[in-house]
Amino acid sequence: MAAALIDGTALARRLNGELKAKVEVLATTGIVPCLAVVLVGDDPASHTYVRSKSRAARAVGIATVEHRLDAQLAEAELLALIERLNRDPETDGILIQLPLPKHIDVTNVLKAVHPAKDVDGFHPTNVGERVTGAGGIIPCTPMGAMFLIETVRANIEGLDAIVIGMSNIVGKPMADLLLSAGCTVTVAHIKTVGLPAICRRADIVVVAVGKPGLVRAEWIKPGAIVIDVGINRITSSDGEKRLVGDVAFEEAAGVAGAITPVPGGVGPMTIACLLLNTFEAAISRRAASIRAG
Ligand code: NAP
Repeated sequence: MAAALIDGTALARRLNGELKAKVEVLATTGIVPCLAVVLVGDDPASHTYVRSKSRAARAVGIATVEHRLDAQLAEAELLALIERLNRDPETDGILIQLPLPKHIDVTNVLKAVHPAKDVDGFHPTNVGERVTGAGGIIPCTPMGAMFLIETVRANIEGLDAIVIGMSNIVGKPMADLLLSAGCTVTVAHIKTVGLPAICRRADIVVVAVGKPGLVRAEWIKPGAIVIDVGINRITSSDGEKRLVGDVAFEEAAGVAGAITPVPGGVGPMTIACLLLNTFEAAISRRAASIRAG
């Protein structure tokens, strides 16, 4: 393997350690940041993610309240819960675990979360502020990916970047962050023609598609930074279940300059950034009471 391994687990551990120290200082003012996690239905992967997020939050001293709701829950009931959490003075962040069951309109739900408590950065107010450079809470996965890129190269101005996948939660905000950092950005998607050749021009490749092994060695410019956001559960030929990304890791690592593994790359950083956003939301919303104290 020629590429340097970008270790998301180690970076997340360091960021979590720094955050824990800040949370302890905040606790001396009587404030414990609190994250409400809302999970509808029984998707096993979502339950695993929620457990990991809650465990990580507790480890840094952030309180969590989990709302595990029946898959048949009516949208109106979910909106009513979000409204209660919006008004609850003890709740600093609200995370709606996606995907939601098909009968619930995800746009309605994400719009219902108060922008100041929208620690995923999905509310149109936060999206608009981010895109116009007016601030806004940054979505956790792209934020984590930017931290990882920074460990390889602090200044990415002028580099060619490609983001493969254009979802609202990963691809589009990722492209926007790379643009803000001074990259020339291509966003590729299912209808992109000639993707391997376009990808091979990029100094930074971010893949968020959900297709195991989509990006092959010959798609990658020698020395490029490769960030694999994909999380795919596959069963190997020996019957073993495991997680893989969207990049054919072994062969790509022979060409790339630096590459994230799956697991252990973007995943832990997504959680670390969620905790950072929750802490920042608590500080912003409770600034007056912190000053008064
Ligand atoms: P998504 O909403 O399904 O979006 C996937 C995107 O990829 C869409 O824009 C889709 O285009 C595009 N696409 C599909 N097939 C393609 C192809 N062959 N070539 C190019 N583009 C293609 O998924 P997501 O929520 O962004 O998640 C993407 C992956 O990242 C999943 O594996 C997910 O599990 C993972 N993920 C990981 C983390 C983490 O913390 N590591 C966080 C979030 C997501 P169309 O819209 O045109 O179909």
